[in-house]
Amino acid sequence: MDLLLVVPCYFEEEILPHSIQEFESYFLKLKSRGLISENSQICLVDDGSKDKTWEIIEKASANSLFCGLKLSRNCGHQNAVLAGLLSNVNQYDCFITIDADLQDDLNAIENMLLKRKEGFEVVYGVRNNRETDSFFKRHSAQLFYKLLNSFGVDAVYNHADYRLMDNKIIQALEGYKETNLFIRGIIPTIGYKSTIVEYKRAERLAGETKYTLKKMLSFAWDGITSFSHYPLKLIMNLGIVLFILSLSIGGWSFYQYLNGNIVPGWTSTFLTIMGFGGIQMISIGVLGEYIGKIYLEVKNRPRFIVEKTINNLNASNE
Ligand code: UDP
Ligand code: MG
Repeated sequence: MDLLLVVPCYFEEEILPHSIQEFESYFLKLKSRGLISENSQICLVDDGSKDKTWEIIEKASANSLFCGLKLSRNCGHQNAVLAGLLSNVNQYDCFITIDADLQDDLNAIENMLLKRKEGFEVVYGVRNNRETDSFFKRHSAQLFYKLLNSFGVDAVYNHADYRLMDNKIIQALEGYKETNLFIRGIIPTIGYKSTIVEYKRAERLAGETKYTLKKMLSFAWDGITSFSHYPLKLIMNLGIVLFILSLSIGGWSFYQYLNGNIVPGWTSTFLTIMGFGGIQMISIGVLGEYIGKIYLEVKNRPRFIVEKTINNLNASNE
């Protein structure tokens, strides 16, 4: 069973040498126990880092256990993972994606492989604690999953991108050509037999999170608007409620008019115009967001450009 571990790396020079050691010793253990084949590898994807990340990857590739993939520029976490998977489709039997910072417990891999033996084609790594995350991250992440689910996106609770996928899944993933690919939302829609494996999430050992508040918010917004038309429906419902409301206000003022009770209500007029104007602006903004997405999709640009590859043991098998 050939396994490929896909590791996206962006400005990870501080932690990568340590992670590489950990990956290596864990893989040797798996190999010696016959859980994975000799041709199993670890693919380090450099997502356009400007520090020494690529040099470290090149050095590691002296060992045939590691292979490297350098993207021509920073394409983002999701696209880096996708590049590692799609560039190696059909060359391995199964794939596991994991972050470079070792926050996800490597030991869960063994359980994932055992689940695969039981016949599961997708195994989601699910963290069973968030004690190591900051208060803010913990609660914002929880809100994110709740929001996704209430908007009809079938996301696995507390699952990030630590997951085992059979080659079949990657073949199917090739067919999803969208530019804004939200991988953890897509995988459940592909189907096949899936299960979860729980693990404890640790703290980042070195370096800093690349997910700033801005990136997190835009990731959440992308996740919602790429999968659900709920915000559009919300606008429509809001419109209906406001229409009924304005009808009744209209009726009331007409009644006042008939009774001769009209007062020069500048304030109320002004406030109404402001209120409705604001709602209209918001609605146009949401529409704009979807139109922007359509614009990005119709351009159909490549999501990543691979600049270099090194050391792929199975590349000639295809
Ligand atoms: N990453 C990437 N491209 C980016 C941002 C992040 O490849 O533009 C990688 C990063 O090197 C790490 C993983 O994605 O391996 C997750 O990032 P990070 O640990 O910063 O996120 P967090 O765990 O804080 O959510
Ligand atoms: Mg991390």
